[in-house]
Amino acid sequence: MLLCGIFGCISSCAPRVIADGLKRLEYRGYDSVGVAFISGGKLVLEKDKGMIDPFVRRLGLSNMSAGIEIGIGHTRWATHGAPCKENAHPHLDCTGTIAVAHNGVLENFLEIKEALIKRGHRFASTTDTEIIPHLIEEGIQEGLSLKSAAARAAKMIRGSMAIAVLSSAQPGTIVCVKRESPLVIGVGKNGSYCASDIAALMPYTDTILQLEDDQVATITRAGPSIETIDGKPVKPKFTKVRWDAGMAERGGYPHFMLKEMHEQPIALRDTLKLPSAFLERASRMMEGRVYLTGSGTSYHACLASSYAFSKLFCMDIRPVYSSEFQDLLCDLRGNTVIGVSQSGETADTLGALRHAKSKGARVIGITNTLSSSITALSDTYICTQGGPEIGVAATKTFLTQLVAMDQLMLHAASVANKLPEGVCSKLFEQLNGVPSLVERVIGQLDAVRPIAQKYFSRRSAYFLARGINVATAMEGALKLKELSYMHAEGYPAGESKHGPISLVEDGFLCVFIAPNDSSRGRIIGNMMEMKARGAKIFAVITEGDKELKLIADDTFEVPPVPEFLNPVVYTVPLQAFAYHVAVLRGLDPDKPRNLAKSVTVM
Ligand code: GLU
Repeated sequence: MLLCGIFGCISSCAPRVIADGLKRLEYRGYDSVGVAFISGGKLVLEKDKGMIDPFVRRLGLSNMSAGIEIGIGHTRWATHGAPCKENAHPHLDCTGTIAVAHNGVLENFLEIKEALIKRGHRFASTTDTEIIPHLIEEGIQEGLSLKSAAARAAKMIRGSMAIAVLSSAQPGTIVCVKRESPLVIGVGKNGSYCASDIAALMPYTDTILQLEDDQVATITRAGPSIETIDGKPVKPKFTKVRWDAGMAERGGYPHFMLKEMHEQPIALRDTLKLPSAFLERASRMMEGRVYLTGSGTSYHACLASSYAFSKLFCMDIRPVYSSEFQDLLCDLRGNTVIGVSQSGETADTLGALRHAKSKGARVIGITNTLSSSITALSDTYICTQGGPEIGVAATKTFLTQLVAMDQLMLHAASVANKLPEGVCSKLFEQLNGVPSLVERVIGQLDAVRPIAQKYFSRRSAYFLARGINVATAMEGALKLKELSYMHAEGYPAGESKHGPISLVEDGFLCVFIAPNDSSRGRIIGNMMEMKARGAKIFAVITEGDKELKLIADDTFEVPPVPEFLNPVVYTVPLQAFAYHVAVLRGLDPDKPRNLAKSVTVM
């Protein structure tokens, strides 16, 4: 999980240091903020909805320092429960002596919460997180140390977590556990620290330890001791960081876009953990005709999903550009419209959904922002777990939109008994395998740069594919034009001879998405017709496809991917291509001219 920020410290003036640390994590995005300290032997908790600055000012955190030497802070990006004061972190146990700040999504929290309530625990929030302090409380009552109680809690929980735990019963220690969500530990001259990223530690130390998955750190002023959650000691491995303020904020990457591309596997994993209750509610609404609507990249997600629905279930679902929606559709009684928007504020999509409602449709929103105009307007919504995306060009949010819609589609199919049980579970299994495929592709992205080097000064490019990858091609072309200002068009490969081929001359760049599936033979035909007119071919192909390696001038190989998941994996090298072309052209891929992250005007 890449949302939110955790910052803990054991040093003098802890409140001031934590306020500063949270500020440095602010860029990650958040909706509420909270801190817990030990003051006079007691645990003190303060939290609220809203921004860091007014919170820090209201509490006088920067001045309130004397005698307070330990604390944890959190900026929340709500996944479970509204962004309100009660749901802000840290969360407490029943005794009010244990505080937990958490970054991540817990999968089995409902069953654990029910069991805890049966055992007499009282809950103050609707977050998934709150089970953690209560589980730790039980461990402590059974005589475990804070560390062992936190480790045991982590073993009982499925899901992603970076947690910082503070207890007034052990007032010189912060215990951290990490799984999937990021957490680093720093040791400096004046104290010890933990934080969601190294940027937050910059003023305090350059000596950093990256906690690994399923490790527990017991941090004291002198530094951390590390164990696995099974209690095996781990030798701490510290590294020295060379600071460059901007680099640190971008997690060591030169641009947010590159960072966000590398975050795609975890964003997908988190989105695959969406509570099934949400998906089922949405899938039960998918009656009558179903329309998908979005703008830009979100439209491409709609287009890909319409192919997937059709291929897997023979369901005819129509993708419509949001900006065209009102002009195309007039009677929507009894139909369902699914609106897709990263920000949940896209004016065109909001307009389409308002129109849809007024014409009698049910509306499902798919956004990356829990509290947004689109979620407010929708009858029900699904929130992708991409985390804040700072680069203007959508990357991880596109991939998460695709898997959110795939999940919705599979739920809808099983609700409507459209598929035999065995087939459905196989498709779910394939869906759950897609983050690892994306991870493998990301590991090979260095191979894209030399290809970009060959073509970055071209004036124009076509992106061509068939079937579901037409959406991939259109997304690849959009990425290239928005980042590098190179003219690019994505369209179905079979259309070349109906017009576009007239532009092709010696050296013209054609990017093909050419997996080894039923379309391969026809795609080869399309490559040949381009080659015959002098085009250069860069093809993204299935690993080991020798024939295509001979035909194309350049190739990037991806592992075999189930057809309905093709766009999730094949888009990644195209993002990298656009990124490198932009950088080679001397442009800033994070801030393309004329574009804004959230398009709130029609
Ligand atoms: N799932 C937790 C919540 O909704 C943590 C979210 C976060 O990482 O900020 O409160």
